[in-house]
Amino acid sequence: MSYVSEVMERVVAKNPGEAEFHQAVKEVLDSLALVIDAHEEEFRKSGLLERLTEPERIVSFRVPWVDDKGAVQVNKGYRVQFNSAIGPYKGGLRFHPSVNQSILKFLGFEQVFKNSLTGLPIGGGKGGSDFDPKGKSDREVMAFCQSFMTELCKYIGADQDVPAGDIGVGGREIGYLYGQYKRIRGLYEGVLTGKGLTYGGSLARTQATGYGLVYITQEMLKHEGQSLAGKTVVVSGSGNVAIYATEKAQALGAKVVALSDSNGYIYDADGIKLDIVKEIKEVRRGRISEYAEKVAGSVYTEGKGIWSIACDVALPCATQNELNLEDAKVLLANGCTCVAEGANMPSTREATDYFLEKKILFMPGKAANAGGVATSALEMSQNSQRLSWTFEEVDGKLKDIMIGIYEKVSDAASRYGVAGNFVAGANIAGFEKVADAMNAQGIV
Ligand code: NDP
Repeated sequence: MSYVSEVMERVVAKNPGEAEFHQAVKEVLDSLALVIDAHEEEFRKSGLLERLTEPERIVSFRVPWVDDKGAVQVNKGYRVQFNSAIGPYKGGLRFHPSVNQSILKFLGFEQVFKNSLTGLPIGGGKGGSDFDPKGKSDREVMAFCQSFMTELCKYIGADQDVPAGDIGVGGREIGYLYGQYKRIRGLYEGVLTGKGLTYGGSLARTQATGYGLVYITQEMLKHEGQSLAGKTVVVSGSGNVAIYATEKAQALGAKVVALSDSNGYIYDADGIKLDIVKEIKEVRRGRISEYAEKVAGSVYTEGKGIWSIACDVALPCATQNELNLEDAKVLLANGCTCVAEGANMPSTREATDYFLEKKILFMPGKAANAGGVATSALEMSQNSQRLSWTFEEVDGKLKDIMIGIYEKVSDAASRYGVAGNFVAGANIAGFEKVADAMNAQGIV
């Protein structure tokens, strides 16, 4: 049996019931087979893949807090510190009822390769809780965040582990988390990214994941002699990534015609009015259905189905496994020729394989959404220098990083004889740096 197959069997046996983690590891290992087979003896001897697929540490803890009715609530909290070979652990915190250890391990594993691709010195981690911020008062969110950080603060630090936001964790949550860290540890340091601008945040961090996604999409199109100008785009989700992907796509001349949330999707043939979406989502924390009540001619449809809307470019920006094989077939049948993932693993394995088989332009999340973590690393640099760069400076660096990622991914795919397969390219390019650093550091 090949080394890759042996390790995959071990991962399934040792992590029972963790379907998302198995899915992420399998996708990476399958596309690394080309590299691993060429160095099988060396990698086997150092147990490289066994170490790479086992998190360095997982902290799991109780998060008790009191709700507005005076009742005690208890949530689960986690931090998965996956790999620190190339830098301190870095990766977001997700607050969503679906959060469990499998989902955080899949996200932490992906983060290792993503962070490597940015070219910046950051290792991979992820954390979060099954807490649902939706419908909670500000006081409840603060009580939860303070309790969560009271435990988490023992395991993180500016040179150790630097969490950021993710689903359900935006500026408000980062503020409450940071305040509690500072209060307990007495340190005013860059321990979280995505901070507010008045206390160490970076300009352009809010926009970074969405903007970065569009920069790399534009780069892919450019290499085909095309551009986003005049293209019809469908974006799923209506959170941080979706909103700023829409903003940049529109700025580059694309027409974004749809957005969604977990209840349904809106279609606006004239192009989404983003100021209205921002007011609904960023200010009032409302539902996307409200858009159709405000914009004449737009249509809201309850449930899934956003991928049935015809488009040239699809940007899935909501959550994992939101786009399956059937969706992929419908998208392509309707003329879509380019898919770039703003969310982490939004396409199922079957959908990804279909895109690759049909040879459309397809950029996987670990490359396409790396602009968020890259800009978080730029926030860390500014914090340690005690400096704030301008929006243009940060945005310029973000753009260069995304173009650099495209080049690394495209080059790795070509080197291994699979030109145009950016899934393999991203996994290989991300892996090479981490594997080299792990080997140099001995059996740790
Ligand atoms: P937000 O919480 O801001 O927004 C998430 C959006 O996706 C919301 O519209 C939400 O709808 C929708 N959504 C969430 N879960 C589901 C679900 N189970 N089914 C359908 N829709 C769902 O999160 P972000 O925009 O920050 O994150 C979106 C994706 O991008 C995630 O996969 C995240 O890991 C990834 N990502 C985020 C980065 C960042 O910097 N923020 C960086 C890199 C990746 P609703 O409001 O109804 O829940």
